[in-house]
Amino acid sequence: MTAGQRKQTGRKAKTSGSRNAAKSRGPEKYERGTRSYTMSRIRGKDTSIERMVRSFLFSKGLRFRKNDKRYPGHPDVVLPKYHTMVFVNGCFWHMHEGCPKATRVPKSNVEFWTAKLLRNRDRDARQHAELEAAGWKVIVVWECELGKKVRDERLERLYHEIVDA
Ligand SMILES: [Zn+2]
Repeated sequence: MTAGQRKQTGRKAKTSGSRNAAKSRGPEKYERGTRSYTMSRIRGKDTSIERMVRSFLFSKGLRFRKNDKRYPGHPDVVLPKYHTMVFVNGCFWHMHEGCPKATRVPKSNVEFWTAKLLRNRDRDARQHAELEAAGWKVIVVWECELGKKVRDERLERLYHEIVDA
């Protein structure tokens, strides 16, 4: 009983106050279930990989708009100050070229999936070209670049891609 009480009071300790601190310090929680959120994600939803990128950029002092509906493709991060947009793309849905995560087209309905994914890819290319023509720098961060072992390097590079332009 005393052990149980101790546990409960211990658990209470840090729930309020440091929201951003908690966000930026725990990338571990994004690691699990990678495949399932890849399969189920829809552009415009606040998925874990998008949150990871945003909280990193926020922790670096950048301020931005998110899922801006005014622009084609609803970029995940819009940094007007740097004329830069960041898309955080799932490798499956956006057909990341040469990526193992992108080649696993479901075995049933192969034609349906292939057509659908090709449409996604063409649409991405069209939208990015449109944005670039309008003067935006467009950066794509791929899901596979945010794997545990590589994400630190990728995020750091992203930061420099944004601010060093
Ligand atoms: Zn990939």
